Amino acid sequence: VINFNAGPAGLPLPALERAKEELLDFKGSGMSIMEHSHRGKQYDAVHEETISLLTELLGIPDTHQVLFLTGGASQQFAQLPMNFLRPGESADYLMTGVWSEKAYDEAKLVGQARIAATAVQPDKKYVRVPRQDEFQLDPKAVYVHLTSNNTIYGTQWHTWPEVGDVPLVADMSSDFMWKPVDVSRFAFIYAGAQKNLGPSGVLIAVVRKDFIARGRQDIPKIFRYSTHADSNSLYNTPPTLAIYLCRNVLSWAKELGGLTQLEKRNREKGELLYGTLDKLSGFYRAPVEKDSRSYMNAVFYLPTPELDDAFVAAATRSGMVGLKGYRSAGGIRASLYNAVSPDDVRTLVSFMEEFARKNG
Ligand code: PLP
Repeated sequence: VINFNAGPAGLPLPALERAKEELLDFKGSGMSIMEHSHRGKQYDAVHEETISLLTELLGIPDTHQVLFLTGGASQQFAQLPMNFLRPGESADYLMTGVWSEKAYDEAKLVGQARIAATAVQPDKKYVRVPRQDEFQLDPKAVYVHLTSNNTIYGTQWHTWPEVGDVPLVADMSSDFMWKPVDVSRFAFIYAGAQKNLGPSGVLIAVVRKDFIARGRQDIPKIFRYSTHADSNSLYNTPPTLAIYLCRNVLSWAKELGGLTQLEKRNREKGELLYGTLDKLSGFYRAPVEKDSRSYMNAVFYLPTPELDDAFVAAATRSGMVGLKGYRSAGGIRASLYNAVSPDDVRTLVSFMEEFARKNG
């Protein structure tokens, strides 16, 4: 099948095939990688290779380091303010959808948080990201938080906001590594692996070392980022199998030509799909404003909810799964993460053309 799920999402076949080959006997050790000690030689090599692939593909500078964490992006919504907000301090949030709302709500439970800009509409939905001239930033904020890609409404930041000297924190769960990124702009990037990088169970963070060092020491050790940074993400048992699978996906990405090549593929996919939506705009409606359209999650609607359902059912029968929109957004959502190929999208757009012809 072609998997258009929003996450967990499809993984590149070569990464899964490699896992299948190595599953029972990892490198002649007579056992699976998941049965090895996280402090042993075999796993250590996987751990280090995953970090070095991330470092190479993203061009991570020496000022930053990679962390493997658990609890998903949702845990980071709470852990970030726990680490960085002290009494009397505040953090700024740029609101672009359900996930930024959740991040902001958690921060308010821990300390003070402000909405520095929001693109919410009167119907509580979002069809664009905020514009720079709408920001009301607090120059004393401990950090500014944004969600780089909004998985549910299908919006994406295409120009990073200017936030002065305030550390920029980004939840990149749904577009991490979709293209090259200037890591040095960010104090803290985090992303659940289950969309562009691997299976669920591990969260990748790319953090600026001096920012982490500023974190509070009066919270439980397991929640301090410095604990994980100081122990190279081996303070406690990391999700070894999930990290191993990320290693396989990263090797695939490297073989493909790295992030520049992935960006080319992803732009081609986005242009194919949005091009079709624009061409057939009498039948399909794509609500997101053009300069905020997401290359990872394309949201669109058919003329009626009944036709939305019929579209999803017919697509499933044709071997395309995961196209139903998020429950609060409705409609259709096609997630075009890194593992989805331009040919997969060509199959989808021919199906869309035929569906519009038959039902329009
Ligand atoms: N942030 C974004 C942008 C997401 O898309 C998601 C999940 O889809 C989350 C956070 C929550 O991630 P998790 O389920 O790993 O906590």
